[in-house]
Amino acid sequence: MQAVARVKWLLIVELSLFAMAIVMVIGSQPTPPIHPNSIWKDLVPIFWVGGFVIGLQSLLLLPTWRPKPKKKRGVPVWISLGAGAFICASLVGMFSIAVMDALREKADQGTYMLPAALTVTAIAWVVGTVLFVGFAAAHRDLSREWLVARISKGILKGTAFEALAIVPLDIMIRKKTDCYCAAGSVLAWAMCFAVGVIVFGPAALLPALARDRDAWYRQRCDACGEKREAVDATADGYRGPTEERCRKCGTRLTPPA
Ligand SMILES: [Zn+2]
Repeated sequence: MQAVARVKWLLIVELSLFAMAIVMVIGSQPTPPIHPNSIWKDLVPIFWVGGFVIGLQSLLLLPTWRPKPKKKRGVPVWISLGAGAFICASLVGMFSIAVMDALREKADQGTYMLPAALTVTAIAWVVGTVLFVGFAAAHRDLSREWLVARISKGILKGTAFEALAIVPLDIMIRKKTDCYCAAGSVLAWAMCFAVGVIVFGPAALLPALARDRDAWYRQRCDACGEKREAVDATADGYRGPTEERCRKCGTRLTPPA
């Protein structure tokens, strides 16, 4: 199966699971309903989680849909980098909740925790976007597919690391709370799981897609995307040292690897 078809299948499977969850909630409603609006109370969390996961993953995958000249990064790439940074910021924000929950006194209600975590998330989003854009600028030779593949893999590693880092915080929280259900560590693990679902597919499938597309990139000018013509070899097969230039924009073409 073609690499791009696998990515499409991933999205189809996820959308099907999302639809199944909605159908299950609707199906599990008592008839007649207790309250005409009660169904929405159950559906809203599913829309939130499903929208968060599928929405961010779609934004992350956006630039890999079609190959474009390497040096023309454009809006889809910036949106993808912003989405990647937002995913990281969500992890950081939830981790900050776990830290605050672990450190606060038992009598402390922790009403400052949500606004503090939102501030941490916002700052982390800005910092993350700057770092990702810097990474992209420093790797101009990477195709958009490789760029998103590397970022997804990096986020996946970070998620695994965070899931481990929550363990000691969880032990601290367990020691002092009776109501464990909404503990910061549990929320942070839930975020790790959601982010894991977002980036696992891209991290697993994009390297194959990127390798497939490498052939496309090899045949085209990095600057304008014009197809490069085969250079006639001389009778003895000697090709160099004449440099090859794009016949449309004149950019020097890197020799095919
Ligand atoms: Zn060109």
